[in-house]
Amino acid sequence: MAAELAQVAVDVAAAETDRLFTYEVPPSLVGKLQPGQWVKVPFGHRWVAGLYLGPAEAPPEGVTVKPIQGLLSDIPPIPAVLLALARWTARRYLSTYPAALRLLLPAEARREQVRTLREHWYRLALPEDEARVLIQRLQARAPRQAALLLYLLENQGQAAHSELVRRLGEGIRDPIKAALQKGWLVAAEQVRRRDPFGDRPVTLPPPVLTREQEEALASIQQELMAPPSFRQPVLLHGVTGSGKTELFLRAIQAVREQGRQAICLVPEISLTPQMISRFRARFGPAVAVLHSGLSAGEKYDEWQRIRRGEVSIVVGARSAIFAPFDNVGLIIVDEEHESSYKQEGQAPCYHAREVAEERARLEGALLVLASATPALESFYKAETGLYRLVTLEHRVDQRPMPSVQLVDMREELRSGNRSIFSRALQEALEETLAAGEQAILFLNRRGYNTFILCRSCGQAIMCPNCAVAMTYHLGENHLACHYCEHQAPVPRVCPHCGSKYIRHMGAGTERVEAELRRLYPHIRVARMDVDTTRRKGAHAAILEAFARHETDVLVGTQMVTKGLDFPEVTLVGVVLADTTLNLPDFRAAERTFQLVTQVAGRAGRGRKPGRVVVQTYQPEHYSLQAASRHDYAAFYRRELEAREQLGYPPFSHLIHLVIAGEAESRVRETAEAVRALLAEHRFSGEILGPAPAPIPRLRGLYRYHLVLKGADLTTMAAQVRAAFAAGRGRWRRSRDIRLSVDVGPVNML
Ligand code: ADP
Ligand code: ZN
Ligand code: ZN
Repeated sequence: MAAELAQVAVDVAAAETDRLFTYEVPPSLVGKLQPGQWVKVPFGHRWVAGLYLGPAEAPPEGVTVKPIQGLLSDIPPIPAVLLALARWTARRYLSTYPAALRLLLPAEARREQVRTLREHWYRLALPEDEARVLIQRLQARAPRQAALLLYLLENQGQAAHSELVRRLGEGIRDPIKAALQKGWLVAAEQVRRRDPFGDRPVTLPPPVLTREQEEALASIQQELMAPPSFRQPVLLHGVTGSGKTELFLRAIQAVREQGRQAICLVPEISLTPQMISRFRARFGPAVAVLHSGLSAGEKYDEWQRIRRGEVSIVVGARSAIFAPFDNVGLIIVDEEHESSYKQEGQAPCYHAREVAEERARLEGALLVLASATPALESFYKAETGLYRLVTLEHRVDQRPMPSVQLVDMREELRSGNRSIFSRALQEALEETLAAGEQAILFLNRRGYNTFILCRSCGQAIMCPNCAVAMTYHLGENHLACHYCEHQAPVPRVCPHCGSKYIRHMGAGTERVEAELRRLYPHIRVARMDVDTTRRKGAHAAILEAFARHETDVLVGTQMVTKGLDFPEVTLVGVVLADTTLNLPDFRAAERTFQLVTQVAGRAGRGRKPGRVVVQTYQPEHYSLQAASRHDYAAFYRRELEAREQLGYPPFSHLIHLVIAGEAESRVRETAEAVRALLAEHRFSGEILGPAPAPIPRLRGLYRYHLVLKGADLTTMAAQVRAAFAAGRGRWRRSRDIRLSVDVGPVNML
């Protein structure tokens, strides 16, 4: 009888292997393997950890199949639901299955898998007082054993093998063996936990819900109680400050009472200490947090707490959708319209909102999408009955929505005001500061000047690696490329024509900050953007100072638009709304509406009403008009019409292909070949391009792109996969060409 064969993802850990391998199941393991289990397999000349995925087909003639060595029982298996989710993710986003499997394990855990093959952790198995007595006795007789026990005592009773060897020398190996034999030590899994909070939460009694909140919660509860097959995802459309977060907390409480777990996704930049403390104040130690501000070790510890079931709630950014829970009852996606839910640059380029929907389906959990400005796609699903729409129209406590004034910057120029602040914004700032209140100024560009232009030849100073203008930074007094981080000194003469008439143009946040200081020398200004928040903890420090009112005006990029809840902010200024409006992207109007609405929502969240001043050269634009009236419905209608005319989402699905390489001609030829290949395989949708990408050169590589458009994403993805599998040899072999595939792109630059 032929041996049973197993499909194994090998070394999900270290290598970028994108193949699955076939191994033989040894008689001792027949009937004992379950998908998601870790096994030890021979690979090349070494042993590696592999993930058993299921039975395999017989390999082609002539391929030798080696047997699985054994189980790695000290690494817990991956739940079946997550394996299924990874498979779905790979299929949907056209990545390999191993690449999707890597999403299930944080980097540290992947390293750990490799480590467990070679090393152990040891834990002291004696009570502290006994250990101390023993150390005394051993000191003369067996000093190394004493040193070993002492080291463990001083390190919370545990240490890794490699750590002991490093600290106590190679000669510690025998004492470890001896101590194990005598039962003083046990080999253990790592148990020490780093606490990313470092403090104890303050618990607060929940507020009494408003009537509107009560009704919304009742709708959510209805869905929670419904049998999974009748359950509908909920789209919670609530204006800024309507108390959505409070509803999340109530719904989470309800699923916990059912004994199930909850995942709450939040955009990275709104995972502020403020947000986290609201969850911890309600649920204390039952909450784990996953975000990029944690060190790799902290992330790993949080992940372990989740996996061991020590917590029942995860609040986290995009990747938390793969949190290793096994009984999820509720998945919340806050600010569901946010583009940071899309992974970019590394396959699989998944959208966490879509993965959340699939995970909810697989686990029979309720999905709640929440936003003041739902993505057009999401609202369309609510309108067409796929989602249940739940609305919060009012702010809590009858607080009014802020008044929004659009200021036409062309008028300002005509009347001789060349400042970056309109008269209206200056007056509003002065009134706010005089009243002892706070303001937020938003501009979606960092740096001092956004570009430097030669007045003689009209050319801007470009990055040598990218087809992008360099930005002037005053603090460092240099030019920087915001795409590749290239830096250069500021030239005195034009590098193109040698003219000395070069001019600094356009303002970024650094300039806004400087102008404020110049106009109002007595006020306290802080700036929050990528440049001021590189250090760990800097982001929190800026927000905490603002919360304590040690800062009067907070200037910032997108970072200041989300999730902030400061009751003394009564003024919000949008320094230039046009920066997003003019992007070459079909979602430019939507993004502008969202940004303006969200940042406006930071004003007037306390007792005093708020106001908003939006500066623009296009005050008549429908997205600004609608945002100024807090009229989502009007924006939605108008934008939906435009999308329908152009056949863009939600009326179609897109797949974006980018071909990049050093030699432009090779890039263009490859792009043509990709198009031909798709046509040959009868791709059923529309193929746009190839054409140079909107940023035609990036980090030294030329870029061409193709946009595929079609009605059914599953069909499109399957067709593209089949075509690429057939055509692989044609261009993948050449190392100088890179092809990236983005299904459902959010950014097509
Ligand atoms: P959103 O997420 O909709 O912008 P939040 O949940 O941040 O709104 O709520 C805005 C503010 O109102 C917060 O300070 C929150 O603590 C407070 N809040 C929420 N619900 C109530 C309530 N029922 N009574 C009093 N205050 C509330
Ligand atoms: Zn010039
Ligand atoms: Zn660059």
